[in-house]
Amino acid sequence: MLKTPITELFGIERPIVQGGLMWIARAELAAGVGNAGGIGFMTALTFPDAEALRAEIRKCKEMTDRPFGINLTFLPTLRPPDYPAYINVCIEEGIKFIETAGRNPEPYMEQIKSADIKVVHKCTSVRHAIKAEKIGCDVVSIDGFEAAGHPGEDDVTSLILIPLTKDAISIPIIASGGFADGRGLVAALGLGADGMNMGTRFVATQEAPVHTNVKQCLLDHCELDTRLIMRTLRNTERVIHNPVVDKVLEIEAREGETQIEELVPFVSGLVGKEMLENGDMDKGILSAGQSMGLVKDIPTCQELLDRIMAEAEEIINAKFAQAVS
Ligand code: NAD
Repeated sequence: MLKTPITELFGIERPIVQGGLMWIARAELAAGVGNAGGIGFMTALTFPDAEALRAEIRKCKEMTDRPFGINLTFLPTLRPPDYPAYINVCIEEGIKFIETAGRNPEPYMEQIKSADIKVVHKCTSVRHAIKAEKIGCDVVSIDGFEAAGHPGEDDVTSLILIPLTKDAISIPIIASGGFADGRGLVAALGLGADGMNMGTRFVATQEAPVHTNVKQCLLDHCELDTRLIMRTLRNTERVIHNPVVDKVLEIEAREGETQIEELVPFVSGLVGKEMLENGDMDKGILSAGQSMGLVKDIPTCQELLDRIMAEAEEIINAKFAQAVS
């Protein structure tokens, strides 16, 4: 057992968080993480509308009596979402935790806070962490350059970003980007965080509702096999290297400004969704972090979290305790 401000705030046993993963963070995964003692966030935008999110929340409640939350990502989208409607459903369904990401959640804070929901803001820079604290967020999830999906445009790794964030704010911190095992958890705590977030590692679990080829693909690739796309649009995304990614990079390397319209056939989330369902790994793009190099098997969430905690406790109780005289 590891008690931190994060375990206290969420009412969980282990300081391990599964943040929003587009199309993947559904009831099966959030319940799996919750039942294993961590906390999972289901991604609201995975569901076509607020009522579909409500159905998934109810499904998750059937699968676990442990806490879970909802992720709301405010990045540019091809299909603009009705955020207030998603938030309303969270309020009506008694959700206690919302993870915001991608952009300042200030326009929605009043609505979220009216229901006393705790806000975890996931961001990629110290300045955004300071802003999040200022506007009333309860936790900052700080996302280093190693991260899957959208690691921001500053390219600062977790090793630097976490201690700098710790020095700059006083609310609890979750370390995100590059974390996949017990060594990472101890490192996160040592750097000043109160818990760690994992994304890529959770995709390679039994509970993750994706085709088995997707999980195998994570095992077959290593820390060298990610690429950064959409840099030219200042909407960088870290993805697994494949022929579609090469095509996107080729378009971005051309002279002149890249237009999102040119990239849509390759980067559209709907193509990615198909890929996750059918297991055709060369169909579109798939977010993955450098932590992919640390993914060697496909355990259940329970096995994974048991292993992480045992590894972390071994480092703290044996290695560290013996080293300090
Ligand atoms: P989508 O199909 O709406 O868009 C596909 C990609 O193009 C996304 O990365 C999106 O951000 C980008 N995009 C869309 N319009 C753009 C514009 N005008 N300028 C620049 N980039 C643009 O995306 P989706 O797969 O349905 O996902 C919905 C939302 O969730 C998107 O905002 C996406 O970025 C986000 N998401 C976040 C993560 C993460 O790491 N947190 C991972 C996957 C998706």
